[in-house]
Amino acid sequence: MDYARKMIDAGVDFFSISVHAHNSELGDYLSQSKNSFEQKKQGIINIKKLGGHFHTNTIIMKPNYKNLPDIARMLIKLGADNMNFPFIHPMGEASKNKKLLVPKIIKTKKYLEDTIKICEKNKMPWSVEGVPYCIVEGHEKNLAENFIPKDFSIFSPSKKQKYQNIDFDVARRKGKAKPDKCKECKYYKKCEGIWWRYLKIMGDEEFEPIK
Ligand code: SF4
Repeated sequence: MDYARKMIDAGVDFFSISVHAHNSELGDYLSQSKNSFEQKKQGIINIKKLGGHFHTNTIIMKPNYKNLPDIARMLIKLGADNMNFPFIHPMGEASKNKKLLVPKIIKTKKYLEDTIKICEKNKMPWSVEGVPYCIVEGHEKNLAENFIPKDFSIFSPSKKQKYQNIDFDVARRKGKAKPDKCKECKYYKKCEGIWWRYLKIMGDEEFEPIK
């Protein structure tokens, strides 16, 4: 509680928290750190008790995609202000551990749909990120890419130049690709496509152009 109070007293009134699990078994497995799930949950409870607000990022990945509805239910109970669900970008450690971490995106569709229903029933603002239109058809307005700022400065303590200006619009689009068959899709021009690293690992069989 003391740490949360210090942050809020220092002026932090909105917290962005990564929550990838709904219980200790999954949470501690993903973080590889015992008790991390309970500590995070207690931190959230403390923030709420002190009148703070929080937004969450829940990475959609192989070990948790079937639990996305459970995670959403838990976050609603904890008082989240909005939730974002980015699909895993298979680079760095995620690429090294791709067999463990990267699911077929089509397999996540049903669980995403259930999660969306829960959010909408509870009037919870939500978004998905790195998820193409064909996986969440009908919810195009909820793509985080619609409202991610085009460019902004990020803090990079390891670099000599502490703040870096990054054009996220360009960086993100460079990371994505569309299979040839997407040309037949009615969303072809608007859709950013899929992480090319994902396509390299999983292929493109699952993507069906929408007529
Ligand atoms: S353009 Fe391709 S990836 Fe995008 S919605 Fe259509 S089929 Fe899906």
